[in-house]
Amino acid sequence: MKKILLIIMDGLGDRPNESLNGNTGLQAAYRPNLNYLASHGVNGLMFPIREGVRPGSDTSHLSILGYNPEEVYTGRGPFEAMGLGMKVKAGDIAFRANFAYRDKNGIIQDRRAGRISEPTNELCDAISMELDGVKFSVKPGVEHRAALVMSGDNLSDRISDSDPHETGKPSHEISPLDPEASHTAEVLNHYLSEARKILDSHPFNLKRSERGDLPANELLLRGAGKAPSLKKFGEKYSMKAGCVVGIPMIAGICDLAGMDVVKYAGATGTVNTDYVGKIRTALEALETRDFVLVNIKAPDVAGHDGNPDLKRRVIEWSDRAFAQIIPKLGDILVAVTGDHSTPCVLKEHSGDPVPLVITTNGMRMDGVIRFDEVTASHGSLKIRSSDLMTLLMGLSDRAEKYGA
Ligand code: ZN
Ligand code: ZN
Repeated sequence: MKKILLIIMDGLGDRPNESLNGNTGLQAAYRPNLNYLASHGVNGLMFPIREGVRPGSDTSHLSILGYNPEEVYTGRGPFEAMGLGMKVKAGDIAFRANFAYRDKNGIIQDRRAGRISEPTNELCDAISMELDGVKFSVKPGVEHRAALVMSGDNLSDRISDSDPHETGKPSHEISPLDPEASHTAEVLNHYLSEARKILDSHPFNLKRSERGDLPANELLLRGAGKAPSLKKFGEKYSMKAGCVVGIPMIAGICDLAGMDVVKYAGATGTVNTDYVGKIRTALEALETRDFVLVNIKAPDVAGHDGNPDLKRRVIEWSDRAFAQIIPKLGDILVAVTGDHSTPCVLKEHSGDPVPLVITTNGMRMDGVIRFDEVTASHGSLKIRSSDLMTLLMGLSDRAEKYGA
């Protein structure tokens, strides 16, 4: 039985870039360690979720970990809240929120409160409270954006938005879409009326008004989602599992799945992350665990920036860190892949499959000697992300026998 190290290079897949002579960042990168893994393992393409699907990092990571997003993905609310570093437990209800400006007649005149640019932490703290036995937590996002998480008993996400989605109208009363959601709607309407009072008289907003800026006196809510209750990853696969990730949303998903989120100060989720330290931390975490997931966010950041040369460089920095894995291949099965493609030409996620390599000492190889999107397509594997865990369990000698 071997331990499993799963490295997700976020947004790894790409398309040809003119500035790289028609290569992808991965093809153009100097990557001796990735090529070593390719030439000593099995290779192929992985379709995140399913052929042609253009996944978010949340749905794709769920699928890679063996959870069907079509069953457990409950909308962006809970995952965006996790993305802001909020603790979201199974059963909590989370919303995407906007600070907006409401005039004296209760009409929403600006859904972004003048595209507020100063941090709204003070406001978020002021309207985080406990009310009617429910805990309300608000945390700021970028500009006017925020997230709200409700924790309490028997809450439902079958409720309407308060966001009218256009200006010139009052915010909507939250209404239940199912009879069982009436309690949630009632508590939430009570909360919103309390929040309005606090926001109207808050010094932050009084100062904004004095300066001639629009006060952020209304919290508009949309996209209610209930945080899913996931079967514990460790029980599902009989493994002690952890993760080393820099981005809060993926840490949140791993936490929901009951995996240990291994703290590591150098893991920043940016292109300046400490790549060597991250892989070292993962290898150390594997000493007391059977499975560790690593997410390296940098290739996705470079893809969204539309910067092929940066993508090439972050892959090279990652490759250098992967040198530490090679001496451990006697005890460890390593898989390197992406959660989706983020082609620099699109600056967004695409439905293109991602390259996948799985390597350990003593395994059958498939003759592929380089790790990149094009060479991988000549390898022995063509799988969906939902099959990855099964494959890794089999190749690490952890699968239970199916049949007699
Ligand atoms: Zn991603
Ligand atoms: Zn992305």
